Amino acid sequence: MTAVSNGNFFLKGGGEMGELTRSFNWSRTSVGDFEKWPKSLRTIVSIILTSRFPMFLWWGDGLIQFYNDAYRPSLGNTGKHPAALGQNGVDCWPEIWPVIYPLIQKVLAGESVWSEDQLIPIYRNGRLEDVYWTFSYSPVHNDDGKINGVLVVCNESTEKVLAYAKLAESERNLRNVILQSPVAMCILSGPSFIIQIANEKVLELWGVTAEAIGKPLFEGVPTASGQGFEQLLEHVFLTGESFSASGLQFQLLRKGKMEKIYVNLLYEALRESDSTISGVFAIAIEITEEIAIRHKIELAEERARLAIDASGIGTFDMDMTTNEIITSYRFDEIFGCNTTKPADYYPTLIYPEDRKIRDRAYEILEQTGKLYYECRIIREDKSLKWIRVEGTIYKDETGKPLRLIGIVADITGIKYLIKQKDDFIGVASHELKTPVTTIKAYAQILEEMLKAKGEPPELPIIKKVEKQVDKLANLINNMLDATKMVSGRLEYNYSNFNFDDFIKETVSELQLTVNKKIELELSANNSHVRADKEKIAQVISNLLNNANKFAPRTKKIIVRTFTKEKYIYCEIQDFGIGVSEENIDKIFQQFYRTNNNSKNTYPGIGLGLYISSEIIKREGGKIWATSKVGEGSTFSFSLPCLS
Ligand code: ADP
Repeated sequence: MTAVSNGNFFLKGGGEMGELTRSFNWSRTSVGDFEKWPKSLRTIVSIILTSRFPMFLWWGDGLIQFYNDAYRPSLGNTGKHPAALGQNGVDCWPEIWPVIYPLIQKVLAGESVWSEDQLIPIYRNGRLEDVYWTFSYSPVHNDDGKINGVLVVCNESTEKVLAYAKLAESERNLRNVILQSPVAMCILSGPSFIIQIANEKVLELWGVTAEAIGKPLFEGVPTASGQGFEQLLEHVFLTGESFSASGLQFQLLRKGKMEKIYVNLLYEALRESDSTISGVFAIAIEITEEIAIRHKIELAEERARLAIDASGIGTFDMDMTTNEIITSYRFDEIFGCNTTKPADYYPTLIYPEDRKIRDRAYEILEQTGKLYYECRIIREDKSLKWIRVEGTIYKDETGKPLRLIGIVADITGIKYLIKQKDDFIGVASHELKTPVTTIKAYAQILEEMLKAKGEPPELPIIKKVEKQVDKLANLINNMLDATKMVSGRLEYNYSNFNFDDFIKETVSELQLTVNKKIELELSANNSHVRADKEKIAQVISNLLNNANKFAPRTKKIIVRTFTKEKYIYCEIQDFGIGVSEENIDKIFQQFYRTNNNSKNTYPGIGLGLYISSEIIKREGGKIWATSKVGEGSTFSFSLPCLS
């Protein structure tokens, strides 16, 4: 360390730069040894070295340089320091000399120069760096009062400038985010909520143009005022508490008319770095359309509910995974309960004999996803009701059943009417049977009497009468059988018989009544069945009559028999009009006749197949049909073989 000698006594302290200044060989420069330094130079260098503020001095003709420890970092770690001490200004700052020399000259001419955050790139740390400075250049007078130096008091503001630049960039980014956002966003600044930034979406939502930007919100969007937003915004602005709400309703003038609008809204206080609140950031998502759709759905649901209520139908929704059930009031009313019960309670009310109907319906539900059955229930008050249950299974994407949704209808009234109808048909056909049998008997007597007279012209007439009476008797018998079947009163007389022989016999009798050739393909061989022969003949007669009736333009019917796995099968094939797929199962229902023009062309009352299917089922067999419209039908039935 160089001691403070007599000559440099004024250079005390000053840290590294004090040390360097004291040890520097000033005689090599134009300022010369300390002893020769004028008072003014000594004073200013002393001030510089002891100042904590960054200071720098150019002195004399060569603009010889002095600087202190506080200034030293501005020269970087490598580069100008320590060579800058005692150096000529022009040699030290070649890269910026064109910028600073005019300033120096101004100062030497007596003018002070001041600048804030000025970019003056300097060479340091091995490269040219962008450095920002806030500085003042002031003249320093010599002992004789002439300006002989320039004192630079400066501060490097690079960090501050860069921080501001970053801030500006992030503000720019925020602005861009807002402007490009697909959601309505804006920034409202100050206590009067000036629209500082507003994107297209928000302008669209407000129903205004970009002219509103820069105005206070309730001036730029006048229709928004008086709807509670002032209070909301003020609250956020004053307290800093954010506000959010969904489905907020208000009115705005858009495209010339007042519209009711629904939005999801968020207000967030905007804070400065010192955490004071400078404005409010707002996001709004318009959900007017969604709300309109929701209202429509609610309305539709309400209508559906009203319609269901009006129809007297009960509804249920069963969770197939938990077995929990949600039922409507009407559902429980039909079952005679005053509240919803657990899902497994309702089946316990089913009339014991009808439980198998429900079991079967659930088996079909598993296969088809559709539930349908009619059964009786005995309610807690012991009253009996007929119900119809219908439902559909809803599955997840893996096919696992999730919910069974359906309806229950009270069909007791309908069932009562059906019973009345069956009773009426039963009584009417019973009452008709006696006179028709009598007419038939008298017609036969008349026929015999006419035959006895030879071949009088009245004979064919009486034969026609007999034929029509036969048809009438057949009709009455069918009606009588049907009503007996419904009430389970039809009696069966069993016998064992050879099936192929029986077919031959029956068909040869029926061949007389049909106008087509019945071809037999019999291969049941010697197989026997045990059944009511007359009733099976009735089935064959029904099927053959249909095959004859519904194939007006063809000439043959085929009757086939064969055996397979303990069953005898009989097929009756025609080549007539056929039955459509949607009707093929329905034609076995009571009174069902296909719904087309053929109703008028082909007479009948829709009982033949019903009676036939009841007989076959009762005999332990099955009956079905396959058909193609326009190509013909094959009606088949099976009966258990006698081993
Ligand atoms: P009906 O013949 O008195 O109408 P059925 O119960 O015998 O009553 O037949 C019910 C319905 O089935 C018929 O009305 C007809 O639409 C259809 N059907 C029955 N057999 C045939 C057939 N062989 N070809 C075409 N349609 C038929």
